[in-house]
Amino acid sequence: MVDVLTPEQRRRNMQAVRGQDTKPELVVRRIAHRLGLRFRLHRKDLPGRPDLVFPKLGVALFVHGCFWHLHRCRYGTVVPATNAAFWDTKRHENAARDRRKAAALRRAGWKVRVIWECETRTPERVERKLRTLVASRPGPITSLPTRRRPIRSRS
Ligand SMILES: [Zn+2]
Repeated sequence: MVDVLTPEQRRRNMQAVRGQDTKPELVVRRIAHRLGLRFRLHRKDLPGRPDLVFPKLGVALFVHGCFWHLHRCRYGTVVPATNAAFWDTKRHENAARDRRKAAALRRAGWKVRVIWECETRTPERVERKLRTLVASRPGPITSLPTRRRPIRSRS
């Protein structure tokens, strides 16, 4: 597939991929927060420094850029117009590293989940995924944490 971004967009995209606090991450954090989920960011003591870690749920969550991490979507399968071989190598190295880190996390007892950048364009989809995490938590508690909104008394 031909690159869907202009060279300028691609350049900015490349600059953003390595950084923390990217927009897709912020989308996921905001929704996780709204759902009342407790999480930590970029825990250095865990393989791959997961973007969000939900200790109570035992979940390590990555928010991956589609291009950079080779998502099988229209953004992840583009071939840049310039330096195609270079980016191809980089992206495959990234994907291989992702697999290694995910395996290491699983060996350490974590559930590994990925939310893709393209999914963050649809907040409802992110919310569904996060609710699924909660539903699959180990132990007897299967509901979401209590909402902050005060509960009216029944009378
Ligand atoms: Zn994607």
